[in-house]
Amino acid sequence: MSALNSNISLNDIVSLLSAKGERQKKLHKSADTITLNSFKGKVWLRGIIEYSNICFKNCYYCGIRKDNNKLKRYRLNGNETVEKAVYAWKSGLGSVLLQSGEERSNLFIESVNNIIKEIKKRTNGELAIVLSMGEQSTKTYKKWFNSGAHRYLLRIESSNKELYEKLHPNDNLHNFNNRLKAVESLKKVGFITGTGIMTGLPGQSKEDIAKDILFIKEREILMSGNGPYIVHKETPLFNSYTNIPDANERVNLTLNMIALLRILMPNINIAATTALDALDKKGRLKALKAGANVIMPNITPTKQKKSYSIYSNKPGINNSLSDNIKNVEEIVKESGKIIAYNEWGDPLQ
Ligand code: SAH
Ligand code: SF4
Repeated sequence: MSALNSNISLNDIVSLLSAKGERQKKLHKSADTITLNSFKGKVWLRGIIEYSNICFKNCYYCGIRKDNNKLKRYRLNGNETVEKAVYAWKSGLGSVLLQSGEERSNLFIESVNNIIKEIKKRTNGELAIVLSMGEQSTKTYKKWFNSGAHRYLLRIESSNKELYEKLHPNDNLHNFNNRLKAVESLKKVGFITGTGIMTGLPGQSKEDIAKDILFIKEREILMSGNGPYIVHKETPLFNSYTNIPDANERVNLTLNMIALLRILMPNINIAATTALDALDKKGRLKALKAGANVIMPNITPTKQKKSYSIYSNKPGINNSLSDNIKNVEEIVKESGKIIAYNEWGDPLQ
């Protein structure tokens, strides 16, 4: 494994994505050594607040897509959202991630803007705000950036245009090139920008994932969140569920992808994503030992949490917020790392 360095070839990446047993252990160990060297054993916490499950898009894989009418829709009110962020700050979380379905109405844009400003005010500017609210105009990105949010996550889902188009309706709202442009626009506005993909999608090859990894490197992306695709019954992709790798393999693909990203990009932020735990109780723990340096306790109010059902079997939906934080603290402890409380947790540049 000593041959692994940032010049690793596409073929090697494809091959290592399938690593199992001893070979996988070595891959993860190499990544962990690099992570320890970069982050000195520190792990950053981000509290996730799932602000709204209202979405005007219809991605074929997602449980909160517009056409799923079996779902109770909600949008948190501003005060409640700010209170949860203040709670995160008081709990020493250092940053919050506001995530939601996609809307582009003025009401939505202004509500988010007011929340950003209020959080910054109430936490004396000490809490970092990360957004994941889909594709917006450059004007909206600028507005939110100027109000104090400074990191943004927008997954490209797949860097393969053909595959992307199979996973989304063929219309202007779900346009591959617009998605890529949005990532570039975020960077230009000044956001520390993150992207990522789902692993184990129907029709996705290992070569696709290898190219996703290289895409993230070539575009100089500073944060990456990747997770296994998880079937949701109320989606068009449900019918393809027999054509995907089994749960174990999807977890391994994600873990190996994390390790490869770390080897190629020693200083970026890589999240141990919650979807991993939906398929493997030790999923996030394994990710922290394979290159991830960020973990995200869910601090959405318990009442709404179950309605943010992007995928099935989401872990921790009935837990209290403090339980979710405790749970994450235990995972970090078990990984042998240390939580960096009260730090923003920007990637090392
Ligand atoms: N609406 C925004 C943010 C919320 S969705 C957006 O789409 O960018 C956040 C992420 O959830 C998506 O980027 C997608 O990668 C992931 N996701 C959606 N459906 C999923 C599923 N069935 N399994 C796993 N991840 C899913
Ligand atoms: Fe909406 Fe995001 Fe789900 Fe697509 S992935 S349907 S944009 S919430």
